[in-house]
Amino acid sequence: MAAVSFHNVAKSFGATKVIQGIGFDIRDGEFMVLVGPSGCGKSTLLRMLAGLEDITDGTIAIDDKIVNEVESKDRDIAMVFQSYALYPHMTVADNMGFSLKLRRADAKVVAERVAEAAKVLDLEPYLHRYPRELSGGQRQRVAMGRAIVRDPKVFLFDEPLSNLDAKLRVAMRSEIKALHQRLRTTTVYVTHDQVEAMTMADRIVVMQDGRIEQIGTPLELYDRPANLFVAQFIGSPAMNVVGGVVRRQGGHAFVETEGGARWPLNGHGGTDGQRVFYGVRPEQLALADHGAAVQAEVIVVEPTGAETELLMNVGGDRIIVVIHGRTNVKPGDRVGLTIEIDGVHLFDQETQMALDAPMQTAGVRAAPAAA
Ligand code: ADP
Ligand code: MG
Repeated sequence: MAAVSFHNVAKSFGATKVIQGIGFDIRDGEFMVLVGPSGCGKSTLLRMLAGLEDITDGTIAIDDKIVNEVESKDRDIAMVFQSYALYPHMTVADNMGFSLKLRRADAKVVAERVAEAAKVLDLEPYLHRYPRELSGGQRQRVAMGRAIVRDPKVFLFDEPLSNLDAKLRVAMRSEIKALHQRLRTTTVYVTHDQVEAMTMADRIVVMQDGRIEQIGTPLELYDRPANLFVAQFIGSPAMNVVGGVVRRQGGHAFVETEGGARWPLNGHGGTDGQRVFYGVRPEQLALADHGAAVQAEVIVVEPTGAETELLMNVGGDRIIVVIHGRTNVKPGDRVGLTIEIDGVHLFDQETQMALDAPMQTAGVRAAPAAA
């Protein structure tokens, strides 16, 4: 096992800078997820850690040893990719043992390690099969087995579940997490899927355009997003965001939108006249018969069984409300909404930084580039 640290790491392809100078630490045994939209630099960062890509600037260290100049094969890292590229002419056992054989490991040791990995991954009945005789999920487990047999210091995963169907993806998510709980090997896991990030990570690094937007535990990011990007990237359905102006007058506090809606505020966040984005998560809104804070018109009702998602219009802004259970409301109905006011987030319109969340996490970007 090992700790990993990135210090001012930058990467350019020709004249294009794709990693902008990134620094953060991964603790020994931690499951760290790098998440962000496609093209933000996740794979590039992972490949630099793996030694598959030169580091243009800065340093990467594994257990305090700078590895910039260390060859990939000497970094004691194992990587699992989206395309698991098993050798079609080799059995499951041979696929899993191949990298050890290449390293001239003793045949007995190889057999032992393969047997152990097969046990951990429930692959024992399939050891003599060929990849074409396996399901997608089983192949993915063989790819993980190949990594496990090496007993590396660090596991790297690059979108390993992207090729699986939705149901299998959820199952594999739990398997990988359970595997980590057993082995406790430091893991860096890349995905563009925020749900995957939220459900699997000890901590998450949210990236955009080659920069870090915020680092934190899943619930820290959910409860205290440092900026508008993180607020809207983490959480599904996404946080509702409406633009408006803070009004704090005569004991009243609210954000007034262009359409005239007044979204209530509690005692802090924003000064009178400040232009802000008002953010509230879909599950922090509820239908109300009385005591409603804002009035809404129902546009679409989407029941999923356990929950109902409602698309609504509030003063010209489209918002989503998620309620537990079912409802009788129909498109066209006018309803009142209550708001969990302490869950409200405010972001300055210019800087897009949160006004209510203290900057408690390391690695938070000072201010995003103007949009
Ligand atoms: P992600 O994994 O987050 O989707 P990548 O790390 O693959 O993003 O890519 C980050 C950026 O670097 C993208 O704009 C991509 O086009 C660019 N890029 C990646 N690899 C190369 C390469 N070998 N040559 C030139 N540009 C590249
Ligand atoms: Mg990628």
